[in-house]
Amino acid sequence: MPTDPNPASNAPLSETRSRQIVIAGAGIAGLTAAIAFARQGFAVRVYEKAAKLEEIGAGIQLSPNATRLLDELGVLDTVLPAASFPQAVVLRSATSRTMRELARVPLGEAAERRWGAPYLVLHRADLQSALLSSAARHADITITTAAGVRDMAVHPLGVTSSIDLGGRVSEAKSLLLIGADGVWSSIRGLAGAAGKSRFSGKIAWRATIRSEGAAAALLGELDAHGSVTAFLAPDAHLIAYPVRSGGAINLVAITRGADQPQGWAGSTDMALLRKATRRHAPALRQLIEQAGAWTSFALHTVDPAMPWTIPGGVALIGDAAHAMMPYAAQGAAMGIEDACRLAALVAATPDRIGVALEAWEAERRPRIARVLKRGALNERAWHARGPVALVRNLVLGSRSSERLAADLDWLYGWKAD
Ligand SMILES: Cc1cc2nc3c(=O)[nH]c(=O)nc-3n(C[C@H](O)[C@H](O)[C@H](O)COP(=O)(O)OP(=O)(O)OC[C@H]3O[C@@H](n4cnc5c(N)ncnc54)[C@H](O)[C@@H]3O)c2cc1C
Repeated sequence: MPTDPNPASNAPLSETRSRQIVIAGAGIAGLTAAIAFARQGFAVRVYEKAAKLEEIGAGIQLSPNATRLLDELGVLDTVLPAASFPQAVVLRSATSRTMRELARVPLGEAAERRWGAPYLVLHRADLQSALLSSAARHADITITTAAGVRDMAVHPLGVTSSIDLGGRVSEAKSLLLIGADGVWSSIRGLAGAAGKSRFSGKIAWRATIRSEGAAAALLGELDAHGSVTAFLAPDAHLIAYPVRSGGAINLVAITRGADQPQGWAGSTDMALLRKATRRHAPALRQLIEQAGAWTSFALHTVDPAMPWTIPGGVALIGDAAHAMMPYAAQGAAMGIEDACRLAALVAATPDRIGVALEAWEAERRPRIARVLKRGALNERAWHARGPVALVRNLVLGSRSSERLAADLDWLYGWKAD
């Protein structure tokens, strides 16, 4: 992966340009798109606003629908050393003293057998590094950091993007501009969609603890070191799963809260987390205290009804198009799916970009809508209180693990036609 010597080279509208792709954003969706397009024979230039791809962020769950695609792209082997293979998703009551188990969906080998690819958990930074080193193996991908895409114009023969290189503005011409610039996307606004994300009223808290430390002992007692465990409670749930090849445990709590400035490592008064979890089992409250420094970020979503494409050659993918709440744990996976399907469809009809983009959007919309629906269902179930929580517990208790897994076949077993 050479760095771009002339980061925004101004190739004339030509044969060359018809094989050029410009991507705004080197996050999970943008890097996946870079690799997917390069494998289809396109020359890809990725522009990333941040000066450095930092180690910020927390854990990410990668379900089999995503790991299957990473395998097809030749990235999975690079991801695996930093990942853990959870043996189950376990739902527990956060408010019962014993943190009673409510349901269990088997993962591990059962996931691979059932859905044909592994279910992994890992740190976001490790996934991003694996994608970067895979991109580095492609001579046709250049990545320029400290380079924000700040404007674009669509012409009959393609798109011209303006790149801000630390105050110096340069232009890049391409067949397609992909806005993979995340929940606070600026390409979304440029593409004519109402630009702003929406604050959900909820914030995510995160902390990472060592798996060997005192704070993790409680999770060990629950056999939670090797699984994804969700502790459910009205208005506030807590999730724990291993990251860094099992060397650390990622903790995420979702509570109500106020909006925060853009970013992934803000700080909020711990009193709010304590209040939201005051009815949690004493052991969980102890875990929250012992976990050390918690950071927080505001959960923003993007209205998926907005257009995701401009026929002349612009597509929004991942969070830029449809940032969602984390209840189905599919944010990264949907970005990966978007990227791979976009590359496949554009490669099928590169001389009719409008047709390819229309086909891509038509294919992705129902899938994203179904995932959003599942996330909303999980939110209601996980934060239920009173009689609704009782019904939830009865329903979950009456379903076998096999049945709970089968309910996810459409999601994890997904394969593009
Ligand atoms: C640093 C960071 C930490 C995160 N931490 C968490 C977390 O802890 N938990 C969680 O659930 N989700 C987190 N996320 C979001 C999660 O990674 C995404 O929901 C998911 O992976 C979808 O990825 P995406 O590629 O669509 O967007 P993102 O991963 O957000 O990537 C978008 C990229 O575009 C870049 N960018 C923005 N504007 C421009 C522009 N105009 N030109 C060029 N580049 C631009 C951004 O700097 C960023 O690198 C984090 C994202 C980032 C960037």
